[in-house]
Amino acid sequence: MKKKTGVFICHCGINIAGTVDVKKVAKELAKYPGVEHAEDYVYMCSDPGQNLIIQAIKDKKLDNVVVACCSPNLHETTFRNAAKRAGINSFRCEIANIREQCSWVHKDMSKATQKATKIIRSTVERVKKNEALDAISVPVTRRALVVGGGIAGIQASLDLANSGYEVILVERSPSIGGHMIQLSETFPTLDCSQCILTPKMVEVSKHPKIKLMTYSEVQEVTGYVGNFKIKILKKPTYVDPVKCNLCDECTKVCPIVVPNEFDMGLTGRRAIYIPFPQAIPASYTLDDKNCPDLVPIACGKCYDVCKVKAIDYDVKPQIVEEEVGVIILATGYDLYDKENMAEYGYGKYPDVLDGLQFERLLSASGPTMGKVLRPSDHQEPKEVVFIQCSGSRDPELHCAYCSKICCMYTAKHAMLYKHHVHDGQAYIFYIDIRSGGKGYEEFVQRAVEEDGVVFLRGKVSKIFEEKGKIKVWGVDTLSGKSIEIDADMVVLAQATRPSKGAPELAKKLKIALDKDGFLAEAHPKLRPVESVTPGVFLAGAAQAPKDIPEAVAQASGAAAKAIAILSQDRLYHSPTVAKVYRNLCTGCGMCVAVCPYEALTLKEGKVEVNEVLCEGCGTCAATCLRAAVQVKNLSANQVHEMIIASLGG
Ligand SMILES: Cc1cc2nc3c(=O)[nH]c(=O)nc-3n(C[C@H](O)[C@H](O)[C@H](O)COP(=O)(O)OP(=O)(O)OC[C@H]3O[C@@H](n4cnc5c(N)ncnc54)[C@H](O)[C@@H]3O)c2cc1C
Repeated sequence: MKKKTGVFICHCGINIAGTVDVKKVAKELAKYPGVEHAEDYVYMCSDPGQNLIIQAIKDKKLDNVVVACCSPNLHETTFRNAAKRAGINSFRCEIANIREQCSWVHKDMSKATQKATKIIRSTVERVKKNEALDAISVPVTRRALVVGGGIAGIQASLDLANSGYEVILVERSPSIGGHMIQLSETFPTLDCSQCILTPKMVEVSKHPKIKLMTYSEVQEVTGYVGNFKIKILKKPTYVDPVKCNLCDECTKVCPIVVPNEFDMGLTGRRAIYIPFPQAIPASYTLDDKNCPDLVPIACGKCYDVCKVKAIDYDVKPQIVEEEVGVIILATGYDLYDKENMAEYGYGKYPDVLDGLQFERLLSASGPTMGKVLRPSDHQEPKEVVFIQCSGSRDPELHCAYCSKICCMYTAKHAMLYKHHVHDGQAYIFYIDIRSGGKGYEEFVQRAVEEDGVVFLRGKVSKIFEEKGKIKVWGVDTLSGKSIEIDADMVVLAQATRPSKGAPELAKKLKIALDKDGFLAEAHPKLRPVESVTPGVFLAGAAQAPKDIPEAVAQASGAAAKAIAILSQDRLYHSPTVAKVYRNLCTGCGMCVAVCPYEALTLKEGKVEVNEVLCEGCGTCAATCLRAAVQVKNLSANQVHEMIIASLGG
């Protein structure tokens, strides 16, 4: 018996109907061989639209469905579910993309209409030969890996753990806390950053469901959603946290001083150190890159002074293997290298700082105990210039994008400076003020009205030192006047960049980066916390510049998405995967080499498919010269029929 196909053409408002004559297309398709029903509707994805499809399948006893609409990325699942509700196998429903691949890229209505007709015809030919497939199912390992222990990773871990799932939280530095723990007070409420973060850090360390692995890094990831296998490198701290009584005698005798990362280099630390007093875990780390005992010239002072014998130079790095069902990446950001900003004198003048250094000066736990003092002479600066967009919004020389948080934190810096130095004057050079957020605009207004901060709309052209002052030359584009300020200190709101090592991690997880190097989401609007790899989610500033409320919200979103997977007994994977015809396969291995998902392997001279890893991209099929590997429901035969159909007038 001949199979009956129904064709449903969506107007997508005017997205498609503005360029494609959808009524004409429906008429043409109604005449096409095998098409039993063709109709158009303004929004096929809406409830009435889906009901039209369901009703037609039932009334006309359709076997196959083609929905001509937007990209299958958006609504393939929607329409396949509708087909299933009407009683047909969901893999007998295919999408003809006449929006992204037709209406959006053409202007001429008659040509676009002709092209849309051809796209749909070829999809009709494809669906005619579709097999009724069943989804592949696999069990789920109900544990999660969170990478990055900043506020985003902390929030995601706590949400997962409080929902009853085991979490392994991997942080590469010796303590969790990320950049938020370095901040003084936080906009827009001016809460003390440590006061709101440290309780969460403690909660992480005490949570029975969270295994915290600091000073550790993910080394290898294999497997797939629901069943990832992870190798984690645990770097040695050389200090046994159980024996160590935090007496601090070791740091007193350590002869090595290196820049203190927590204070952004404004102070030094010893080679054996605790990152900051509230660090979690509260234990010492011996930094083997700087410790003489782990390089030829032996020292051994810390070992000798340690009464409880907590130090052991012979500890080796360890590889820990874990199995998890989902992964959340919360690797955060770094500031744009200041060395790139030679025009602003960074590195040359000690009183030109970046935003995080200024945070440390403002912080009660900082190098100056919260007093704003110049690094050069420890004097209170009376004129401070803040420069926004330092490295941001500068496609020619630096980063093209807006770093988003700088307008707000610079207003905060200027405000807090005035709270510390009442007779001081703060100037802010800005391009525009971007203060979108709850209470944000009011916060910026406060800086102007209550603290008398002078906002200068314009860019700084040059910074140089003269007679003990930092000369700042700029322009105020509102008055059209050149500006020259004799500053005591300059603070650069450096662009935010993806954290170092993010590209390598993305490679291990086979997830994409966006054009600026941040971790890319699967869809900017509809799947903002998912990566393109199923089961891998994104949280916080690793995806794009974000402030704390946004990072926290996204972390909770990522945790919710992860829980949606972990809460299932089995996971279902699309069955439209590669299939090997063993009699045709010569075992040449070309398909194995090109598979981007590492889903193919050679076994006893023939290729085998790991159906759960396979994403059905078809790269293997396109490579095989003998058509020995083909994608289910997109066979060589189907592709042939599709080409013929699209050639017709
Ligand atoms: C000067 C300045 C002031 C700011 N002030 C405010 C403010 O007042 N209010 C506000 O809302 N926001 C503020 N922010 C923004 C705030 O810092 C961020 O929103 C927040 O830190 C983002 O958190 P996160 O967890 O996404 O990233 P991060 O804080 O960067 O944390 C990421 C963590 O991941 C770890 N990591 C990175 N790579 C790896 C890896 N491969 N493996 C394991 N671990 C890894 C890092 O060591 C780090 O601990 C400010 C930012 C700056 C620069």
